Amino acid sequence: MAELSDLPLRDNLVGKSPYGAPQAAVPVSLNVNENTHPLPEAFIADATAALADALRNVNRYPDREFMELREALAGYLGYGLAPEQVWAANGSNEVLQQILQAFGGPGRSLMSFTPTYSMYPLLADGTDTGWIGVPRDLNYAVTPELVVAAIAEHRPDIVVLCAPNNPTGTPMSLDTVRAAYDAFDGILIVDEAYKEFDTESESAISLLEGRHRLIVSRTMSKAFAFAGVRVGYLAADRAIVDALRLVRLPYHLSALTQAAATTAVKHAGAMLATVDAIRAQRDRLRDALVELGYTVHDSGANFLLVGGFADPSAVFERLRAQGILVRDLGIPGHVRITAGTEAETSTVIAAIADFGAAGTV
Ligand SMILES: *Cc1c(COP(=O)(O)O)cnc(C)c1O
Repeated sequence: MAELSDLPLRDNLVGKSPYGAPQAAVPVSLNVNENTHPLPEAFIADATAALADALRNVNRYPDREFMELREALAGYLGYGLAPEQVWAANGSNEVLQQILQAFGGPGRSLMSFTPTYSMYPLLADGTDTGWIGVPRDLNYAVTPELVVAAIAEHRPDIVVLCAPNNPTGTPMSLDTVRAAYDAFDGILIVDEAYKEFDTESESAISLLEGRHRLIVSRTMSKAFAFAGVRVGYLAADRAIVDALRLVRLPYHLSALTQAAATTAVKHAGAMLATVDAIRAQRDRLRDALVELGYTVHDSGANFLLVGGFADPSAVFERLRAQGILVRDLGIPGHVRITAGTEAETSTVIAAIADFGAAGTV
């Protein structure tokens, strides 16, 4: 077998590593921020019927414009959005990739505030877009002042603000979004992958009116418990959607994906019924770890960034040996833990309590 280095790979991919959160069949999997609760049976029954109907027609290409799903998503999001202002793809990762294909590329750049979602630089590499990572302020905040100064210094073509931020959980004020939009004439993306867990603040969708360069990205992978189906979506001006149509592959959303996702959105109330319980487990995990002496960063999402570990990779290995997966993201002293069910949360609290005082492991 040849080595990667034997291949005429594009220069900007040389030496890079693929996205690689560990996937292992363990009893307590809290490393990729999935919703770990079972899906509602009424949804499973309806979706099974919808999938059967869709299968009867898979000899034909699916609706290229997936209007039924876009209508359902527009209704779910509210804010008077028209279906023409909504777009979807196979995960919000594909939505973000399409945005970079349309508005990034050679000679253009994407800026964000680190630590943040590890896929942003990978999506930039894949589309030959320059990557600019600007360190966050104290407590991982991105203030209007920071965003305006960073835009003035780096002159990016695209800015992505992750709100709440992965992996720190930090919520973001809409003042930062407004300031960023006004500070340049490029594309501003607000990635609201965890928005359903952040009930304290308004969505950036409320800012879309009159801001045609603003894109708000969402996913069904987290709160909706739909990671395996791969559906992400966005809300924006209709012109943005027209731009994405230039780069999307024809029929990119399969008939099965459309059927399953449309059914899930129709069952949104039941699909999202676990959100409050997950927030409660997140807060319980926070309180327990603070009690044990760990530093827990403010989170508006379904996970916590926890500091106070002597050796995060040793923590990862010791928990993994007990059937618990958490995420070591290379942030010194820290690991990220997803809030799961009550039982999963109890298991991870007990395992960490077993380490002894904070800082021992
Ligand atoms: C999980 C996550 C996504 C979702 O990705 P999908 O491709 O929709 O599964 C997007 N952005 C952030 C910040 C995430 O953490």
